Amino acid sequence: MIIDCDANATYLPDERIRGVIAACLRNLGNPSSLHRGGQRAKAAVEEARASIRRVAGAAENDVVVFTSGATEANNTVIASVGTQGGDLLSAANEHPCVLAPLARHAERGGVVHLVRPDQDGVVSVDDVVERLTPTTTLISIMIANNEVGTLNPISEIVREVRRVAPKAIIHTDAAQMLGKGTLSMRELGVDVMTVSAHKIGALTGTGAMIIRHGVQLHPLILGGPQEGKVRGGTENVLGVSVFGAVADLITPEIPARVSSMAAARDAFEEYVVREIPDVEIHGARRQRLPNTSSLYIKGVRADDLIVAMDLEGILISSGAACSSGKPEPSHVLVSMGYDEERTRSTIRVSFRADAEREIVAHVASTLARIVERIRSVSDKAGETSYVSAR
Ligand code: PLP
Repeated sequence: MIIDCDANATYLPDERIRGVIAACLRNLGNPSSLHRGGQRAKAAVEEARASIRRVAGAAENDVVVFTSGATEANNTVIASVGTQGGDLLSAANEHPCVLAPLARHAERGGVVHLVRPDQDGVVSVDDVVERLTPTTTLISIMIANNEVGTLNPISEIVREVRRVAPKAIIHTDAAQMLGKGTLSMRELGVDVMTVSAHKIGALTGTGAMIIRHGVQLHPLILGGPQEGKVRGGTENVLGVSVFGAVADLITPEIPARVSSMAAARDAFEEYVVREIPDVEIHGARRQRLPNTSSLYIKGVRADDLIVAMDLEGILISSGAACSSGKPEPSHVLVSMGYDEERTRSTIRVSFRADAEREIVAHVASTLARIVERIRSVSDKAGETSYVSAR
């Protein structure tokens, strides 16, 4: 049996997806075709737009533009505002699909300010305000960090930015927040929110930008006039329809999902803190995603833990991203001010809403057992840290 505790990487679909896909297969025409096959597909895409508005708490006249994922959505927002000129402001712990287009903008002579988060991975409102200039055109701050799970004070940031730079576009990457808490684009007050289908149990390769009514964005992908001329290319009708259908399924379930995720995470953390010496939970006292636990386990390499847990049938991840096959220390943990030892010894455990109590207990005790084993091997070898159990 495989126990998936890596829900932040992708939230594998539950059994209901079969029925959802089967139903969506009926409407697979080209939405641009005039005939009834096309019109059926178009109706399915429009229905999905309404579902995404609902799950994201957007207003009825907000515009949903479907993309190939949150990566494309974030790239589009940055390219669209970036080409208009002005300064772009974001944070050093954003996802690479925000940081990489910002880096390209800077390489091409644009001005980019990156705010550093605090030790828990939270961006401060004051730091954002301090970096605003009269020419700031974009503020892009994620709601929830994918590695650590801590939440940023988005509504406060919006309130202050509106006061100082009323014309700036405010974007938030909500890829990790969607489905893990009540999300209200209206209440947050942002101009654009970006989301990803596979983080809520729909299919990979689908995402969306939700654009506040009246805000104009320009396409990154040029082509036909699809998606209100903001994203060229024939729509991914299946991906989009499944995204909408899964959104409809989970919308009423969100409060229950949040409490079961939080119950799993809390039980896990309680055990880990009690049973494993020298462990720290990042952001433990801050507002966090209900399912995410970022653990620094002193002297134990995350890579070794991931492999050892995998051998036990348990999937977890590290904070480290892989770039060209070479594991680099997590830029998120580095931005939080942590040293290399800590970045190499941090794991992320992200629970699904259907994680059962016994399974969670098994994951926690397996982790404790493996940590003890790795540490005892390292003690015997006379090493203090970075010990490989392999
Ligand atoms: N933004 C965040 C915060 C994410 O966690 C991810 C996925 O890991 C993405 C964006 C990219 O989403 P997608 O896989 O849909 O391109």
